[in-house]
Amino acid sequence: MRIDIDRDRLVGTMREQAAIGGTEGGGLHRLALSDADREARDWFVDCATAAGLDTRIDAFGNTFARREGTDPDAAPVLAGSHLDSQPDGGIYDGALGVVAALELVRTLDDRGIETRRPIELVNWTNEEGSRFPPAMQGSGVWAGAHDIEEEYAKTDADGTRLGDELERIGYRGDHPAEPREPYHAYLELHPEQGPHLEETGADVGIVTGIVGLRWAEITLHGQANHSGTTPMQHRSDALVAAADVVTAIRRLPGTLGERTVATVGSLDVQPDSVNVIPETVTFTTDLRDPSEGVLETAVARMEAEVAAAADREGIDYEVEGTMHAPSVDFPDRPVEAVADATADLGYDGRRMVSGAGHDATHAASVCDAAMVFAVSEDGKSHTEDEFTSWADCYRSANVLANAALDLADAVGE
Ligand SMILES: [Zn+2]
Repeated sequence: MRIDIDRDRLVGTMREQAAIGGTEGGGLHRLALSDADREARDWFVDCATAAGLDTRIDAFGNTFARREGTDPDAAPVLAGSHLDSQPDGGIYDGALGVVAALELVRTLDDRGIETRRPIELVNWTNEEGSRFPPAMQGSGVWAGAHDIEEEYAKTDADGTRLGDELERIGYRGDHPAEPREPYHAYLELHPEQGPHLEETGADVGIVTGIVGLRWAEITLHGQANHSGTTPMQHRSDALVAAADVVTAIRRLPGTLGERTVATVGSLDVQPDSVNVIPETVTFTTDLRDPSEGVLETAVARMEAEVAAAADREGIDYEVEGTMHAPSVDFPDRPVEAVADATADLGYDGRRMVSGAGHDATHAASVCDAAMVFAVSEDGKSHTEDEFTSWADCYRSANVLANAALDLADAVGE
């Protein structure tokens, strides 16, 4: 059985959510647990209630909405994403996945279709991690990757506790933040956030997994001194060593896998003065690859470059791993459900590995998971300029709906 979602209603619903925390530049400023996030959450609960779904909120604010199946003992199919955004982010990132999941149940209702398995929609708390670290936090708590008390204690730049904000906006729910039953599958639609689909002319992405990543913070300890009076041979310049490492990291992927990427995105120089030799430099590294073996090699080479650069400059250093997310391979069953739906609908699908982390990363540790990617025009993401055409929103949401229907077993097929 194949279904066709209501394109106009999908677009209308996307516009409704985009008005909550919308910016003048046509983007979204809807940071996790802000007033705008509360408003978006209330809107989601209202939509779910209007669709006749039972909603429940867990102790970390993850919000679920359930459409019952005909078999009360069957494990549900879960579908959703997140409604929080980056500062001045785009209107599609996260929201498209939630709106598409809503459109799935609305379409089933329109057509009077029952499924054997229950279908649950989910809006995860704080996927973005920009106000409170880390990213993918709500799904991580739910999946047991993080301790809930530790996450409640996280603070934003103003020192506000996450747990207090959750309470303030009324989304510290009564249900335990954990899977309350076995789940059959998790499906998430998300914009690609990269250029591959557009470059290859594909309609949708059939996501087969998510790259692993390793983050580290590196500190180099040089010696501050007068820039005019210290001879060059007497210097221990932490920034010179850091510059060597930054350049080496830019070149690292060329010696590794085809899909390896490596970035130094943040750098702090102390004392940061025009006429003082830099004493301490702290910077971050972000290494990603679909293969754990390649990642381990990348980390070892990065550490060797730091050691060599520090040695040349005669200085001490520390390397601290700050995040370790293993790569995820989605299992065949849900991936094939996405691929079959794509083919049946006559769309041109491209199999790909996600370069960004998603809530599906954590959901995949609980049940079979897979993702659908929508085309991101110019590959732009985390900016107001993020753009996915309504035609691409429709196509990708249609794939999600049909893959979910396949996994949930339509009754009377
Ligand atoms: Zn997202």
